[in-house]
Amino acid sequence: MNNRQLLERSLKAVWHPCTQMQAHETLPLVPISRGEGVWLYDFEGQRYLDAISSWWVNLFGHANPRINAALRDQLERLEHVMLAGFSHEPVVELSEKLSALTGETLGHCFYASDGASATEIALKMSHHYWRNMGRPEKCRYLSLAGSYHGETVGALAVTDVALFRDAYAPLLRPGATVPSPDARLAEAGESPSDYAKRCARALEDHLVEHHGQIAAFIVEPLVQCAAGMAMHDPDYLRLAAAVCARYEVHLIADEIAVGFGRTGTFFAHQQAGIRPDFLCLSKGISGGYLPLSVVMTTDRVYQAFYAEDVTRGFLHSHSYTGNPLACRAALATLAIFHDDDVINANRLLGGRISERATILATHPRVKSFRNRGMIWAFEVDSDDPQFSRKIFTEGLRRQLLLRPIGRSLYFMPPYVINDDEIEHLMQQTLAVIDAVR
Ligand SMILES: *Cc1c(COP(=O)(O)O)cnc(C)c1O
Repeated sequence: MNNRQLLERSLKAVWHPCTQMQAHETLPLVPISRGEGVWLYDFEGQRYLDAISSWWVNLFGHANPRINAALRDQLERLEHVMLAGFSHEPVVELSEKLSALTGETLGHCFYASDGASATEIALKMSHHYWRNMGRPEKCRYLSLAGSYHGETVGALAVTDVALFRDAYAPLLRPGATVPSPDARLAEAGESPSDYAKRCARALEDHLVEHHGQIAAFIVEPLVQCAAGMAMHDPDYLRLAAAVCARYEVHLIADEIAVGFGRTGTFFAHQQAGIRPDFLCLSKGISGGYLPLSVVMTTDRVYQAFYAEDVTRGFLHSHSYTGNPLACRAALATLAIFHDDDVINANRLLGGRISERATILATHPRVKSFRNRGMIWAFEVDSDDPQFSRKIFTEGLRRQLLLRPIGRSLYFMPPYVINDDEIEHLMQQTLAVIDAVR
């Protein structure tokens, strides 16, 4: 197989996600034959620095030796068994370890295979909880303006991205949105924290009126990634959690993108000192190896389902729920966090990246440069209607995988990036920005 052969066959047989396929008449697909560390390689030796961890999943680089070894070992033992009526070591160990990471406050783990399914589970579980508690009228959901929680029909109903939503709007059960605490929206002279407080009051105003029908408020803690890395002050989460508790509305923390150290703490919501009722995890959970997601919840929710009556139980399943290989990849990922003290190591690594990023932060066409943990983002002044596509193409020419969201450029590098690679990332991004006017 060479580059050209792969592309031709791919365009014939594969319907690619998030893509107008006709665009590939002029914008070539990128053929990838192998990966190693932060690098992806094509069939002819060209390489690309994966500055976005392949849609935010690949935490410890491609072909990570420790995750590879764990998967090889698991392959020789058990590749899969159904989780209804059966259990296995990786799923038990993973559930115990994840619960421990929440200080045992979220002690019950329900698994699925992707992020959108985790959202679906949290939404269904929240409503079913209220139904079991004799309040079936609590069946509505509230989310933030610009929210992204996945693209299946249930998850899309709490996703507020017009491009993904509009064509399917007739299929969706409408939910309400409240203002996003995105710090870029603060008024002149208003601090991110003050703006967060103003948004929390808007949330409270909404709940005062509608809490009787609302099962849950779903939020991406600290960074609304798909909205273009919109960052907010932790005060918002602190106040939102208190308001939700006061009005008996569940708080669902969607940490599918921001969990696993991405914002500087293991979970993003920890920075606000809150305890959500549901925590959704996916993406980085398996180090970018295998599809896996989990919804973690409290003993209180769990107990509301625990009864003789089967219809009071949580009725949801996926064929691959709790797949042993995926759980083993997740365990290997957690082992790296532990063995390498990754959260602390990332403080230093993040500091070095921020320092090197000064050449971008001070660039005259760069606006709203921002950073939280291992996420860096900024907008670039440009009136080119093809901006994001051109950045992508110019990036590839400079051994760089960048995928802007609208005008927002961002880095979410694998945590194994070294100093030379950081330098490559910054210098080449600078060149890319200067190449796209
Ligand atoms: C990616 C993402 C999802 C959906 O996950 P998929 O695995 O793509 O279905 C949900 N919520 C957030 C915050 C995400 O970033």
